[in-house]
Amino acid sequence: MLVYAPVLGAILGSFSTMLVYRLHHDETGVWLGRSRCPQCRQQLGWKNLIPIFSWLFQGGKCAFCRKEIPVIYPVIEIAFATVFFLFVQKFSSTELLWMLPIVFLLLVLFFYDLWFMEVDDRIAWPAIGIAGLAIWWRDVPYAEHLIAGGLGFLFYAAQFYGSKGRWVGAGDMRFGLLLGLLFGWQTLLVLLVSYVVGTIVGLGLVFTKDYGPKSQLPMGAFLMPVAIIFLYLGNGPWNWYLDYLGFA
Ligand SMILES: [Zn+2]
Repeated sequence: MLVYAPVLGAILGSFSTMLVYRLHHDETGVWLGRSRCPQCRQQLGWKNLIPIFSWLFQGGKCAFCRKEIPVIYPVIEIAFATVFFLFVQKFSSTELLWMLPIVFLLLVLFFYDLWFMEVDDRIAWPAIGIAGLAIWWRDVPYAEHLIAGGLGFLFYAAQFYGSKGRWVGAGDMRFGLLLGLLFGWQTLLVLLVSYVVGTIVGLGLVFTKDYGPKSQLPMGAFLMPVAIIFLYLGNGPWNWYLDYLGFA
């Protein structure tokens, strides 16, 4: 299983680039249609679709129109391969049964938000559904996780309606719900770390580019990777944090 994990990850990563592209452009055949070059729309054969390697051997260009294929494509494939390898290496198959689908969807949400600054309900709701059902599968205190999901949703809903959509996007309410269901009270720490990282990256952008205070950073670009890291680490950081605050 461990040998196949990065291969599976890379294939799913490759699939996700197509998925994100098609969902964003509302193309038909989202799940089953043949892959095409985003520039010349030429249908691609299997030789052009080998994750990471096709990009390398074609010198980062489309085999047909020779236009550049953005480096984000192999980067996404490598990210999926790495994350899948790490999870399969650490967790039992019973845990992976809910973890791999959720990690897949978190990664898709991450790259979608990074790429188009959008949260797509066709990805967000399935993720919320799996996170909700997994509460029973995981044997965690379900009241805590359900309440945290509700609070996470309200946290962003208050900001969204309070600022008339200027501070956060409507999609961030989905993120709040999703994180609460996944992490229970630990969501506090996930948000804290995400905001620290977001602030550092935001300040970096302000100093290096014309990135005014009005430009919005896609929140999912910080929440999703931090969520994946916390899923991987388990309860360790939260226990440490409670200990640090003097609760444990
Ligand atoms: Zn092309």
